[in-house]
Amino acid sequence: MHFNFKAFYMKCKILDGKKFAEESYIKLKVRSANLLEKIGRKPNLQAIIIGNDPASKTYVGMKERACLKNGIETKTHQLSENVTTNEVIDLVHKLNSSPEVDGILMQHPAPKHINEIECFNTISLEKDVDGVTTAGYGRLSMGINAFGSCTPLGIMRLLDYYNIELQGLNALVVGRSQILGKPMAAMLLNANATVTIAHSKTLNLSELLKEADLIVAAVGVPRFIKSSSLKKGTILVDAGYHPTENCGDVDLDGIEKIASAFTPVPGGVGPMTINTLIYNTISAMEMKFNV
Ligand code: NAP
Repeated sequence: MHFNFKAFYMKCKILDGKKFAEESYIKLKVRSANLLEKIGRKPNLQAIIIGNDPASKTYVGMKERACLKNGIETKTHQLSENVTTNEVIDLVHKLNSSPEVDGILMQHPAPKHINEIECFNTISLEKDVDGVTTAGYGRLSMGINAFGSCTPLGIMRLLDYYNIELQGLNALVVGRSQILGKPMAAMLLNANATVTIAHSKTLNLSELLKEADLIVAAVGVPRFIKSSSLKKGTILVDAGYHPTENCGDVDLDGIEKIASAFTPVPGGVGPMTINTLIYNTISAMEMKFNV
């Protein structure tokens, strides 16, 4: 039998989002300091949070701290659970027209009575740093410049950092949410991967998992995908995060024996989302002032 020395010595790469984010913050701080020097103010991100969802509060708190650490001015508009869609839209209009504001983030999920997509779509394209508007997604799908949704764009930046060539890969995105699965598929397609999207009605997921060269798991179910169900040498990106179990959407047990590269949980995709929000906010101000 032929012994494959190359495969034996091929080390599985850990796609370390924490390391990349830390390095990236050093560069982002320089860019925000440059804006302060040239324009006379820091980049400014305004967050809107509706109601009392504890996870959303924690998440917005983490974003605030990251902004302050990295030279971004930020303010959170905490709106009551009973606010109306029109009241949220009025606030978004105000933020759109403020020359001091570079980015607007409306935390998902909003309470059920709020027409979330209508609120998202009120955010002007130049300030849509969280990549949530229909127009932004449409542009992205057409391969035209737009701020991408932060988690999938963070994943693309991480893959690029590790020089992972996407062209020609069979990529499988498991999940089709508006903030993650769909924009992820569009970004991979723009990078010339051959993209399949799986969802809860997909009938042959196990076959698709066995064929994919790159998998993005965005299912929202703890340890839903088993590492043993993947093709040898696959690149695995686990976008899921479940704080109580401290795990993602993939059971990573034994993954280093199967994948050629993978994102750990925690410390893989997670740190990239906030980093990308800051990256997009700084880019928004740079574009506004042509810096
Ligand atoms: P979501 O809106 O709940 O969407 C989940 C997707 O998974 C849906 O498209 C659903 O299909 C699909 N799905 C559910 N069960 C499935 C099954 N049995 N087989 C195949 N597909 C199935 O979730 P999301 O907001 O995209 O988030 C996904 C994961 O990413 C979660 O774990 C979340 O915590 C994580 N996340 C992380 C970050 C971060 O910053 N790291 C940011 C956002 C999300 P249908 O469309 O058919 O229902």
